[in-house]
Formats: sequence, C-alpha cells, structure tokens
Amino acid sequence: MRRLLDDPRCFRKSDFGMRIAIIGTGIGGLSAAWLLGAEHEVSLYERLPSLGMAAHGIELGDGPDRVRADVPLRVIYESYYPSLMALYRQAEIETTPVDYSGSFAELGGPTYFRYRNRLRGRSSLPYLWGREALRPTTWQIVRDLARFYLRAPRDLREGRLEGATIGDYLAREGYSRLFVERFVLPTFAAIGTCSYASVRDYPARVIVEYLTKGVLLEGVRRTVRGADHVVARLSSRIRESHCGVSIDRLERLGDEVEVLGSDGSRRRFDHVVVATQASQVLKFLVDPTPTEARVLESFRYERSRVVVHRDTDLAPARRKDWAPVNFFVSDLRDRPMATIWLNAVLPVPAGVGDVFQTWNPIVDPKPETVMANAEFDRPVVDAESDRVVGEMDRLHAEPGRRVWSCGSYARRGAPLLESAAASAMAVAQRLEAAGPVA
Ligand SMILES: Cc1cc2nc3c(=O)[nH]c(=O)nc-3n(C[C@H](O)[C@H](O)[C@H](O)COP(=O)(O)OP(=O)(O)OC[C@H]3O[C@@H](n4cnc5c(N)ncnc54)[C@H](O)[C@@H]3O)c2cc1C
Repeated sequence: MRRLLDDPRCFRKSDFGMRIAIIGTGIGGLSAAWLLGAEHEVSLYERLPSLGMAAHGIELGDGPDRVRADVPLRVIYESYYPSLMALYRQAEIETTPVDYSGSFAELGGPTYFRYRNRLRGRSSLPYLWGREALRPTTWQIVRDLARFYLRAPRDLREGRLEGATIGDYLAREGYSRLFVERFVLPTFAAIGTCSYASVRDYPARVIVEYLTKGVLLEGVRRTVRGADHVVARLSSRIRESHCGVSIDRLERLGDEVEVLGSDGSRRRFDHVVVATQASQVLKFLVDPTPTEARVLESFRYERSRVVVHRDTDLAPARRKDWAPVNFFVSDLRDRPMATIWLNAVLPVPAGVGDVFQTWNPIVDPKPETVMANAEFDRPVVDAESDRVVGEMDRLHAEPGRRVWSCGSYARRGAPLLESAAASAMAVAQRLEAAGPVA
C-alpha cells in the first residue's frame, strides 16, 4: 500500500486493471475506491441517493457565502489518524484546526466542567471559569484528569491495561465517581455515540490510546471543504457509481463475484469490497462460510440520532456558557446528549442565526426549529469485537479470497474515520496481492 500512497503515477488509471465493486460509500468504501481506482476499474454501489459519507449534509445560507454543514460533523487529529491523514494528503484534501472546546452540564443544571481547545495555542486543557472554579465537582474532575494523564499512558506502555475494560481500570485505580460518570463516560459515549454501559465495556487500551495519543497537545482538525469535497476527491478515480441502489445479493461464482442490485442490475466482478456496516453483510452474502457468519454476527451496533436545529433550549441555559461542543448528562438517560454550536466551528453566514447539531437528543428540539434529522448505526467496541477483528484479518489472508470487508468496525481501536480508512488500506493491499482471475 505504501506504493499506492507514495507513487504519483498511481493517479493514472491502468488499462489492465481488475473489475472491482465497492458496496457502501462511507469513508471505508471511499478510501478503498481511491486506493484501488488508481489501477483498476472500480464501480461503487450505495443505497442512499448520493454517495454515503456526505449524504446527510445540509446547506446553511444561500448565495456565494453559503456553507455546507456535514451531518454528522467529524473531527480528527493527526497522531490518531495516520492512515486517514496520509490519504487526505495524497488526495489533496486540506484540513484546518477547529475550536472544539467543550462544556459539561447536568440537564437543566449549571455547567460543571469545561475544557479549552484553543486554536492559537492548539492545546486542549481544562479551565476553570466563574462559578465552576468554586465547584467541588469541577475540582474533583480536574484532579482525576491530571492523575489519568500522568498514569494511564504509562499503564498502557507497561501492558497493565491488557484485558481490562475501561470500567474495570478506572475502578481498580480508584478514580472518583464524578470523574467516571461526569467526564469519561459522557466524553466517550459522545465520541462513540453509544450508551454509558457500552463505554464501560470498551477495552481500556482503546480509550486511553484515543485520549492520550496527542489530542491534548495537537487539538483537532476538520476538513476545510467538508465531506462533499472528500467524496468528490476520493471518488475521482472510479469508473462509475450507482447511488440509490441497495445490493440485495452477493454470490461467489468460481473466480468471479456476482452482484445483484435493487434496480435489477446483475454484474460480475473479479473482487467485491463490502464497505457496509458488518450487520448488513449477511443480509446479502449468499453462502457465507461458518467462520464468516460467526465473525460478521459478532459485531454489535447501536443506533444514534443526529438533529440539526435552531432550538436554544438544547444549548446551555446562559448564552455566555455556550461552547462549540456542549455535553449534557442526566441520571434518567443511558447516554449523553451533545449539542454542537455550528456557528462556532464553521463559517456560517451571519444572516443564518444560531444553528445547532445535537447528537442523541435527550429532549427533542421544537419541531418548527428542526432543519434535518439523520440516524446512524455505530459499531460497539468491546473485548469480543477486538478479538473478532483478528479473525477477520485471518479470513482475508485465505488464498483465493474475492469478497473483502472494511469499515470502521474492521480495525482495532475506536470506530472512527481512521479505523475505516486503515481497514480499507489493509484490504486494498491484500486484494492487490490476491491479483486478477487466474
Ligand atoms: C454523531 C456522530 C459523530 C461522529 N463523529 C466523528 C468524528 O468526530 N470523528 C471521526 O473520526 N468519526 C466520527 N464519527 C464516526 C464516523 O462517521 C464513522 O466511523 C464512519 O463514517 C464510518 O464509515 P464506514 O465507511 O465504516 O461506514 P458508513 O459510513 O456507515 O458507510 C456504510 C455505507 O454502506 C451503505 N450501505 C449499507 N448497506 C448497503 C447495501 N446493501 N447496498 C448498498 N449500500 C449499502 C450505507 O448506506 C452507508 O453509506 C461519528 C459518527 C456519528 C454517528
């Protein structure tokens, strides 16, 4: 794959490539399309009306100043996203630092904690401000956070996190309930858009790696031109795309794979990369081997909801407390709500007014303020999914393989853009090695 990433001649399409279908056009499918499209004839299939990664975005404002807001909004940071950053660089997709400072509040209550993610200093640090500086809750979180950043990286290096869930690790090390329930669980339940119970089961290694690999010092970035541009660049080497076509059937026929679309199309390919959610594959893959079926069934998903709206009731009560990202917790709910104030993270035209993107709303925005609604299935990471990813690698190493899987679930680590891009790279590399039909 180094060759595909480094060699500028890869921009030229070969006349003698393989016929490859890619099913699903999230970042996993698009990364595979970019890598394989350089030398092969790639056809994309997507069940949504447009290529998946940008399918839910909306326009804010009109005229030349209008801006497209991605749904969901996604940020990255260099040290945790080496594969994605390499792809973006090669595809000339620019990124820019973004202020992703955060506030935490009990639903209906005051803000109890903040962190700063200033652009100039580009470091994320907790800070105490006004009434929070007097709150014992705030001080407890700050103390535990300092201890976590001192100890957790060392525990990771010395192998003391192996086999432990984050819930076990934090309890074993005696972290306060406030730190666990009012900082770690909401933070990661928002990053993974999952329940607190699922976060507790995350391998400790995954969360410690994400939080300590550099996000504190580097800050986070977003793409300058948004998901539309990512889609346009990463799909620029393909032969054709079929949007609004759900794949209903995938069958291996000797050295070829037959793909049957919901539009009645039937085509044969040398290889098929399945870049849908793992939970979808068994719905269309004919005759999966027992190992394939077991591996694919092992990945669990949780549904999350994203709403774009103008309802200030889903932001902190006092406007001066609004941060780019605002977390709300409630003992009555199994997951946090996160409200992103879009005007603070995107160049929203002045006339548009305040616009928010809320993940997993605990309270619904008033219907007349709603601008868009979308639902996403996110993989849940636990010891079992961590183990099964290894089995999937072994399946991909089997000789004669023609059907491949990639996506955010298919790599160890947090299920983010990086794991999807890295799994696509691994698949592209193996597929290249497997070669064309004998
Ligand atoms: C609220 C929220 C916030 C997030 N924030 C971040 C962030 O800040 N940073 C980050 O790195 N990640 C973030 N993520 C996660 C990131 O968006 C995902 O990890 C990533 O988009 C997954 O990409 P993927 O290619 O694996 O899968 P998907 O994007 O799910 O793509 C799968 C595609 O397959 C298509 N498909 C399914 N079945 C079929 C079929 N039968 N036929 C044809 N097509 C089919 C689907 O329509 C879909 O387009 C966030 C996610 C959410 C929900």
